[in-house]
Amino acid sequence: MNEAIKKTAKKFVIANWKMHGSLEQNHALLESYVSTLDNLKDTQVVVCVPYPYLAQVQSLLQGSGIAWGAQNLAKNENGPFTGEVSAQMLRDFGCEYVILGHSERATAYCESDGNIAEKFMVAMQHGITPILCVGETLIEREAGVMELKVGKQLDTIIDLYGADVFDGVVVSYEPIWAIGTGLAATPEQAGAMHKFIFDKLSQPNEAQKKPVKILYGGSVNPQNAVQLFEVENIDGGLIGKCSLNPQEFEGICQAAESSVG
Ligand code: PEP
Repeated sequence: MNEAIKKTAKKFVIANWKMHGSLEQNHALLESYVSTLDNLKDTQVVVCVPYPYLAQVQSLLQGSGIAWGAQNLAKNENGPFTGEVSAQMLRDFGCEYVILGHSERATAYCESDGNIAEKFMVAMQHGITPILCVGETLIEREAGVMELKVGKQLDTIIDLYGADVFDGVVVSYEPIWAIGTGLAATPEQAGAMHKFIFDKLSQPNEAQKKPVKILYGGSVNPQNAVQLFEVENIDGGLIGKCSLNPQEFEGICQAAESSVG
């Protein structure tokens, strides 16, 4: 890992492969990532892959400027938890990041805000940076309660552990209605929510050592990325579908790189 790039990166672009890939496909995709994205100066690229591919990602990305991570972790350290994967196991494969609270998991596996908060703390204790996903449903947006919803998701962690735990963490605002729908939030919608998150996490925490990074996720593509990444408080993106296409992902990363003033 190129620590110099990581520490000074102003923007983050994080690939969420979800449950996609094969050894052969991943190999081609990762080679393409390395050949096109390794030299970005102001953008930290991270790729979050299914558990079985962590060893492959570690062997292909080690020594590059691209970091990697997982899409979930267990809140327990070890024990009789069939099918779970612990933070220490992720560390064994060089994971520096983990996506937590993604709405696809929260919905399908009934993950509560409290459960996600516990996983958040476990990740921190193991030196893995959480990529905490927050966001509202379409019904909540139409009812005008999107800030209440996102505020509650953040408050669950703040109430348990204090606002300081967000030092250096990545938060991704992911309106659920925008994920995988092709309908991204407008720069105005995203900008308003990012300001809300920024104010909430930064105000009580002026002595922050490392600023929180606030990403936008939900149908980002190389075209809308150009506008979205220029918006104040949008520090990059969490990318699902387009991360599986090397040209589109490169376009999004280049948009992040060019947006840094
Ligand atoms: C996601 O899964 O976090 C996501 C943002 O997906 P997509 O880019 O496909 O909307």
